[in-house]
Amino acid sequence: MSSFTSEESESFTNELDLVTFGQRLRHLRRTRGLTLAELGERVGRAPSQLSLLENGRREPKLSLLRALASVLDVPVEDLLRRQPPSRRAQLEIAIEEAQRDPVYRSLGLPHLRIGKRVPNEVLEHLLALYGELRQRQAKPTATPEEARAANAELRRQMRERGNYFDEIEEVAGRILDAVGYRGGALSEGLILALATHFGFGLRYATDLPRSVRSIVDLRTRRIYLKRESLGMHTPRTIVLQTLANIALGHAVPRDFADFLRQRVEANYFAAAVLVPERAAVEYLGQAKNDRDLSVEDLRDVFSVSYEMAAHRFTNLATHHLDLPVHFIKTDQSRIIYKAYENDGLVFPADAQGAIEGQRACRYWSAHHVFSAADRFSMQYQYTDTPTGTYWCVSHIDPSRERDFAITLGVPYVQSRWFRGRDTSHRTRSVCPSGECCQRPPAELARRWEGLARPSARAHSHVLAALPPGTFPGVDETEVYTFLDRHAAE
Ligand SMILES: [Zn+2]
Repeated sequence: MSSFTSEESESFTNELDLVTFGQRLRHLRRTRGLTLAELGERVGRAPSQLSLLENGRREPKLSLLRALASVLDVPVEDLLRRQPPSRRAQLEIAIEEAQRDPVYRSLGLPHLRIGKRVPNEVLEHLLALYGELRQRQAKPTATPEEARAANAELRRQMRERGNYFDEIEEVAGRILDAVGYRGGALSEGLILALATHFGFGLRYATDLPRSVRSIVDLRTRRIYLKRESLGMHTPRTIVLQTLANIALGHAVPRDFADFLRQRVEANYFAAAVLVPERAAVEYLGQAKNDRDLSVEDLRDVFSVSYEMAAHRFTNLATHHLDLPVHFIKTDQSRIIYKAYENDGLVFPADAQGAIEGQRACRYWSAHHVFSAADRFSMQYQYTDTPTGTYWCVSHIDPSRERDFAITLGVPYVQSRWFRGRDTSHRTRSVCPSGECCQRPPAELARRWEGLARPSARAHSHVLAALPPGTFPGVDETEVYTFLDRHAAE
């Protein structure tokens, strides 16, 4: 195997285990004391390309393989060996790397030399602590401005790809095949098989700390979970989000943007496993033919939350069904928690372009659904906006803490594929200018201006700042209408 013909190179990549290859490459690079940039320079590739290889997410071309082997001074066969480098070797290198990290250095500890007698257990333990330290550092170090910028950039990327991540679909598909998925909702048995596939066991605990959803013990390779089954964060979802970091080769996040990207990818992976692409596309294609597309059916067929079904719909709609879409998650006071569009709908945004934390238009269906007589039924609506008319469906996804409205919509011309297109409910919105709803009607304002002192509910978990207004975070129209209602009492 010291040289390959071009036909042979076809077959070697088929057999190549990308994850093991990536580990070997990283191991060899680190033992040579090379950074990604240094190795990249020597083989004429960008460090980001090598990083994809090391994370098992890209297949190496034969020419690159030869160049790497030559720079690392090993035969090509060594790079392709199926056994990963020994756990001990991996641990020693990881500890060395950790100690060079400024976050680690900031602790002011003397440099730790790893003698032969130090058990693996101790090294695993140290690395787990270091990992946690990095996680904690990564999140709060982002200033609100950085968080907004990272969020806006991520949104741009998602929009560009129609919210479809082919490489994650591919990983999810491969793993589903490996555990013998045959269609329909994913059973607990298959979830367990997935965990086993990655070498993890599941333990359900009742005494997990309140602040966490799961804990992974890397030493015993156990995932501890709470037994609960509401909303997005069912144990299934949490197990899959946890496994996603392994399946997708996520390293400890470098910064907030990286942290955010990993979170989006982990959520995507969980959805791609719970609502598998092939089965879902087949189902949706049929529903589109029947002009009976609906999010609630997708929810029921795959036994996921309404939010996950709607979000998953946005992944598949543009790529597979040729439908541009929008998605909004709002609370009862119309604060936006998540939003995505590639159909031209304009969301309210602050000066930096942040959408989360802004207040959606009063005339969008996300608002109407909360005041509907039967608030848990589907609310269909056509909305005339400055960028055209949209059809959408809103539904309240009940959750333990509070209810959220999930809205999925499409441009008017695409409504013909959906259940609920025959609704006669129609409104008009001139948002995001706010002329229609962000300021109280003149007459109402005239009566109450200067006479009201509302105090806003905190939305500390929303990334962006509170919506602007006389009282940040407060819907003045609602306050004034309330005062009107009660003034006479
Ligand atoms: Zn409005």
